[in-house]
Amino acid sequence: MFTPSVTRAAAAGRWIYPTPAGLYVAPGDFFIDPVRAVDRAVVTHGHSDHARGGHAHVLATPATLAIMEQRLGRSAGTVRQPLDCGDTLTVCGVRVRLAPAGHVLGSAQVVVEHAGARVVVSGDYKRRPDPTCAPFEPVPCDVFVTEATFALPVFRHPPEGEEIGRLLHSLALFPERSHVVSVYALGKCQRVIALLRAAGYDHPIYLHSALEPLCALYTRFGVDLGDLRPVVGADAAALKGAVVMVSGSGGGGWAAALSDPVLAVASGWVRVRQWARQRGAELPLVISDHADWDELTATLAELSPAEVWITHGRDDALSHQAARMGIRARALALVGRGGEGEEGE
Ligand SMILES: [Zn+2]
Ligand SMILES: [Zn+2]
Repeated sequence: MFTPSVTRAAAAGRWIYPTPAGLYVAPGDFFIDPVRAVDRAVVTHGHSDHARGGHAHVLATPATLAIMEQRLGRSAGTVRQPLDCGDTLTVCGVRVRLAPAGHVLGSAQVVVEHAGARVVVSGDYKRRPDPTCAPFEPVPCDVFVTEATFALPVFRHPPEGEEIGRLLHSLALFPERSHVVSVYALGKCQRVIALLRAAGYDHPIYLHSALEPLCALYTRFGVDLGDLRPVVGADAAALKGAVVMVSGSGGGGWAAALSDPVLAVASGWVRVRQWARQRGAELPLVISDHADWDELTATLAELSPAEVWITHGRDDALSHQAARMGIRARALALVGRGGEGEEGE
């Protein structure tokens, strides 16, 4: 039984702290998700705002390393060391363990222990079931380092099954129209496909070429995405009433070549009406890979750490909420993270 301690949390602030390169663990001489090239990096997951290129040594889960290799090529790290979730490594007296974060394939929290104190750096996470990655593991700790991407009470993501139901409903309603679904390439794409499969949709799903390599990687790691086909070269008749996944916003010029497509956008940000309108989303699907307000606050209540450190996002509301729960909050204001336009979603 682990009992969080205010004294140990305060002491932890002297050996793990933010620097311009990112969160630094001094006794182990490594950074977690550094934004600059460093000698030793521990990387929580493959999104580009966390997994940067150019590090000399990278420690991450095997899936995250594979994602980095695919996206960054030779700059994915000179020496890449895999660490499976649950395994422990000791670096200069600092114990490091990875625990699943439930965000995207390979995503992990970094559990760091030194001088009796335990700090959990969650990276990005969510608490909802996701057929494409292992679920978030709550790890009791003195200090919980959290994101705050959707840390406003207005952000409450609806059940993802409901959102997928709206897509299926539209497909049934408009059997002649292609349904172009705009998604982030890493995580959202594969989750939407897996959710469609779980809902019984077994038709071929067409992929824009930019999405093919990551879908193939997910399949290699054992995530079944069903029948996937390239959209380029597919004949027009086959695309009638089909689901076409595209990366990024707007669908690109080639989507306009489809006759009268329905444009769907899957993102937590479609809750912001202005954001959805700018992207021309006819069918906004609120599907997020980040914890919403209720998940963030429920996680704080469950872990009940002595301190919560907020890395990026909307820290005011979450700080206030933490204080009400008797948890000391600190905004780290790490630069180069998240944001509406970035892949952090
Ligand atoms: Zn992020
Ligand atoms: Zn992320």
